[in-house]
Amino acid sequence: MSSILKAVHSGTEYPIDQVRFTSDAGELLDVAHDLDELRSRYKISREYFQKKRSIINDQPSGGVWHFKELVMPDLHDDHIVSKMEGNTRLYRSRSVAAWLGLKYEKFFLKHEGENPTGSFKDRGMTVAITMAKLLRQKAVTCASTGNTSASLAAYAAEAGLTGIVLIPKGNVAVGKISQALAYGTKTLVVNGDFDDCMRMIREAQERLAAYPLNSINPFRLEGQKTIIWETLLQLNWKVPDWFVFPGGNLGNTSAFGKALFEAYELGLIDRMPRFAVIQAAGASPFYRAYKDHFASLTTQKADTIATAIKIGDPVNYPKAVRALKWTNGIVESVTDEEILEAKAYIDAAGIGAEPASCATVAGVKKLIGSGEIKPKETVVGILTGNILKDPQVIVDYHFHRTTGLANPPHDIEADIQQLQMFL
Ligand SMILES: *Cc1c(COP(=O)(O)O)cnc(C)c1O
Repeated sequence: MSSILKAVHSGTEYPIDQVRFTSDAGELLDVAHDLDELRSRYKISREYFQKKRSIINDQPSGGVWHFKELVMPDLHDDHIVSKMEGNTRLYRSRSVAAWLGLKYEKFFLKHEGENPTGSFKDRGMTVAITMAKLLRQKAVTCASTGNTSASLAAYAAEAGLTGIVLIPKGNVAVGKISQALAYGTKTLVVNGDFDDCMRMIREAQERLAAYPLNSINPFRLEGQKTIIWETLLQLNWKVPDWFVFPGGNLGNTSAFGKALFEAYELGLIDRMPRFAVIQAAGASPFYRAYKDHFASLTTQKADTIATAIKIGDPVNYPKAVRALKWTNGIVESVTDEEILEAKAYIDAAGIGAEPASCATVAGVKKLIGSGEIKPKETVVGILTGNILKDPQVIVDYHFHRTTGLANPPHDIEADIQQLQMFL
C-alpha cells in the first residue's frame, strides 16, 4: 500500500481502508502517499503527465483520473465511479484583465463550473464516492450550501447508493436544490444554517455510521488537488505567481496546498506560487484568523449573497492554515457589492460564474488596489461554480438596477419598428 491516513499534527497513522475522519485525538486526517515510492514506480515527471493517455469508462479522459498515480494509486480502475470530471477550460479575457489592470496574457480563469454537475465538488466527489462504494458504505450524506448536495446526488445515483443531503433553510440557490431533487436524493431542509447542518453530519457519522462526503472526508481533497495540477499542465508547468480562489469550508485551500506541496516534493515544480484566499466580508472567520496571525479561530454567524461560501465555522481550518504557510499565502475579504460588481464583469465577458466564484475576481481587484498583487504578475483565478446555479442573483441585478453593467430586458410590441430602435 502506498497510501495511509495520517493525522494532521500528531502524524498518527491509520490504514487507508479504515472508515474514519479524525484521529482518536480529534485531528483531521490526510491521505498521505509514499511519494518516493510512487515517483520511482511510475517514473513521475512533467513529461509523464504530458504524454500520458488516460482512459476512463472506455473513453479518453484526462481530468481527475489523469493523475490517479497521485490521487489513489492502489485503486483498481474498475472500481472508479466517474463522470469524466475535470478537463475544465482555462479562459482569458481582455475585458476582465483590463478592468483588473492585469496583462491579458498573464491572467487566467480556470472554470470549475464546467464540471458534470456545475462545480468543482465533482472532482472530490468522484474519489470520495468511489471510496464509499469500495468501503461498502450504504448511505452517503453531506451538509451543503448547495453544490455538494447537487454533486452527491448525481454520484449517488450513478453508484447506486442512498444519498441524504442536509441544506440550510432558505439559503440554497435554486439551481442547486433543483439538482438534488432531480437526481433523486433525499433532501432534508434544516431549520438552521450550514454550520448546524455540518454538526449534524459529523454526529450522524459517529452515531449512525452515515458516510459523510463533505470535505472533512480526506478523499474529497485528493480529487480537488487535480485542479492545481491540471492548471499547471495547461500552463506547461510554468508556475504562476498567484492562485486566487474563494474560501468557505476551506477544502480547496487545503487541497490546493497539498497539491503544490506534493508537486514540489516530486520535482514537478521548482518554486511555490502564492495563495490568495478570498472570503465574503459577512463570512470571514479565516480572514480574521489570518489578521490575528492564526492565533485562534473565532467562528461567526455567516451572512453573504454568495451562499456557497456562507460558512462561519470552516471544518478544514487546520489544513488551510498549513496551506497558507506552505505558499506564503494571504487572505482577503470582499463585500457583497464588490462580489456583484466582479460578477457583472465576468458575466459580461461571456464567461459567467456564480457569486461565490466571483469573489475570486473581486479579491484580485482589491489586492491589485492594495499593491499586494503587481500588474505584471501571472494570476490564475479559480471560478468554482457555474453561472446557472444562482439565476435569482442575476435577475435581481439586471432587472432592478440602473447603474454599472445592469442590462435590463425591454418590453416591446410585436412590431419591427420597435426593434429597430435598438439597432
Ligand atoms: C463549495 C464551494 C465553495 C467553497 O469551497 P471550500 O472548499 O469549501 O472553501 C466556493 N464556491 C463554490 C461555487 C462552491 O460550491
